[in-house]
Amino acid sequence: MDFNKIYGHDGIKSALKNSVSSSKIGHAYIFEGPMGVGRFSSALAFSKSILCENSHNGEPCGVCKSCTMAEGMTHPDIRIVNNELYNEGSSSSDILVGTIREMKKEIYIKPFYSDRKVYIVPKAETINETAQNSLLKVFEEPPPYCTVILITENTNAFLPTILSRAVNIRFNSLPRETVESYLNANFGADEAYIKTVSAMSDGSIGSAISLMEDKSAEADRETIIKTLCSLSSSSGKTLYEAVNTLKGFSSNADFMMKTITMWFRDCLYFKEGGDIVNLDKQEELKSFCKNIPSDAPLHLLDIAVRYTKYLKQRGKYPLLINCMLLECWEVLYDRSNWNKI
Ligand SMILES: [Zn+2]
Repeated sequence: MDFNKIYGHDGIKSALKNSVSSSKIGHAYIFEGPMGVGRFSSALAFSKSILCENSHNGEPCGVCKSCTMAEGMTHPDIRIVNNELYNEGSSSSDILVGTIREMKKEIYIKPFYSDRKVYIVPKAETINETAQNSLLKVFEEPPPYCTVILITENTNAFLPTILSRAVNIRFNSLPRETVESYLNANFGADEAYIKTVSAMSDGSIGSAISLMEDKSAEADRETIIKTLCSLSSSSGKTLYEAVNTLKGFSSNADFMMKTITMWFRDCLYFKEGGDIVNLDKQEELKSFCKNIPSDAPLHLLDIAVRYTKYLKQRGKYPLLINCMLLECWEVLYDRSNWNKI
């Protein structure tokens, strides 16, 4: 992985390259940010640059033995720390104290091939307090050749003593256009669907890739949008049927709520002339908007945003789906039409 293959984060990439070119490489870093935005790729690119035998302006040469090993993920001095690495034989998704202790022992052994060695620790927020205390000694008295990169979604679980001894680098969500250009370069073809996926990815290339590769995502989106459209059509399904359909998405509630939110947002934009994301569904949007009261989109969007929050906080899925669609129904029809339910 090279810096030039990472989308976005120009400021971070240039700061990391500068630290390599000026030989001011820190002993401890925290790469904090949402999943799928490029924290791990940046850690790999940084490691490759640090260990490269002929780096130029902080960029790895790509041809030396160190670069070749880094690219093949076989470099003995780049260690991706997880429980399996140290034979803990645990299925725990949290990083165990034993893993950190083994890592610590190994850190004090000089590099095998390069002048330096790099430890990358994904999911570092799962390191518990005891293990962090164990790690603290490395942060306080690091061997001169060593760099540790903790990758985390948030730093709330870190001890202040860990935080104060590391360089904290914040990775923000990527702009929608950046995700879109990644998908265009790597998936091509369906431009309208790519635009929709980019909007649904919350600025995460990782989430966008999952959506593109998930064969059921497009069909699920189709079902969800059809269900919403049926609510606005007098000959459509009853509210009861719509509730039953959406109840089937309990294991994929996040995706469902994003689809619903994007749909209602597009209704608002469709009426106001804004930039819609469901480009492949313009006919359906037009017909949905024609069938609903003119002030409905704003209320529907508010409902979708609120219930996204409720579902995350309270999780009583069937009940919340019932309530959400009832609220939508109230916006779409006045009470005299409630016999349609
Ligand atoms: Zn190199």
